[in-house]
Amino acid sequence: MAVIELEQVNKTYSGKNGAVQALKEVSLSVEEGEIFGVIGLSGAGKSTLVRCINLLERPESGHIRVEGKELSSLSGKELRLERQNIAMIFQKFNLLMQRNVLDNVCFPLEIAGVRKKEARKQALEYLRTVGLEDKAKAYPVQLSGGQQQRVAIARALASHPRIILCDEATSALDPQTTRTILELLRKVNREYHISIVIITHEMRVITEICDRVAVLHHGRVAEAGPVQEVFKNPKSKAARQLLLLKETEELEEELTDNDEEDSEESSYSDENEHIDELENKTTPYSVSETGKNSRVVSEDKGHTAILTAEKRKNLHVVRGGAHAVG
Ligand code: ADP
Repeated sequence: MAVIELEQVNKTYSGKNGAVQALKEVSLSVEEGEIFGVIGLSGAGKSTLVRCINLLERPESGHIRVEGKELSSLSGKELRLERQNIAMIFQKFNLLMQRNVLDNVCFPLEIAGVRKKEARKQALEYLRTVGLEDKAKAYPVQLSGGQQQRVAIARALASHPRIILCDEATSALDPQTTRTILELLRKVNREYHISIVIITHEMRVITEICDRVAVLHHGRVAEAGPVQEVFKNPKSKAARQLLLLKETEELEEELTDNDEEDSEESSYSDENEHIDELENKTTPYSVSETGKNSRVVSEDKGHTAILTAEKRKNLHVVRGGAHAVG
């Protein structure tokens, strides 16, 4: 049974520079118990899509059904109740910084009117699930990014959702931490039978835990299906482009591993600063092949980082355009 169904959804923003159609005739369905990925480059419409699923954004046309209910036909109160079944996890964790970990996880239980003692008992149970029971009294600022995301997952569980929407939930994390968070999401999916929708620009996220995927490109679903099928035999240009992105991610991961092994300071700090700057952008990479042994990993305001298969000494930042190296 489909827990989420989108049928011919259109969403247009009107801004100072005219109208932007962020979603064009988007149709997809998420089956109960599956982990469904939505991948696309920056501006593809991913965030808009995820916000339409719980009607934080209202599309101008199309149908959105969650567990068979047409969301747009619900009253304000019914919609609020329905939203309680849908938890969200964000890239920036969105924890309450003035509250300790336990109180963060208690928060949705308090809102639901659960008595304090019972709320604390349940919250501790969820903290155990995410492996953070020893951090109950810590404040978010005292935790690493990965630990903060674990708290966010425990808090999501405390609202007893049937669906979790993850909006770039691992984009702020390094590859190793990403892996542990994905393992945790898989565990949550299996143990609590929660359907999960993952919005991401990272191929590793899709290939590591998603059952099915939709490739979003300029607001349209370019193709969708089981992950293995889509990326083994991609039919769309958008999916082929993402396969190149995967290669880049793998190289990047290799570099991170090498850096961990070899902590020697690089004499190419200027270039590295640009690379870090580019990597820290929320804007995902735009990928294209530029020549043998080379990939453009990111383009941003005229800076282009080119990554060769060799280590950092071969990283080059080129201003004003792509130049193949290697
Ligand atoms: P993604 O999450 O894939 O990066 P978004 O859903 O954020 O894509 O954006 C899709 C398109 O809609 C982009 O062109 C973006 O600039 C535009 N957009 C997103 N939100 C707004 C908004 N609130 N007002 C105007 N345009 C927007």
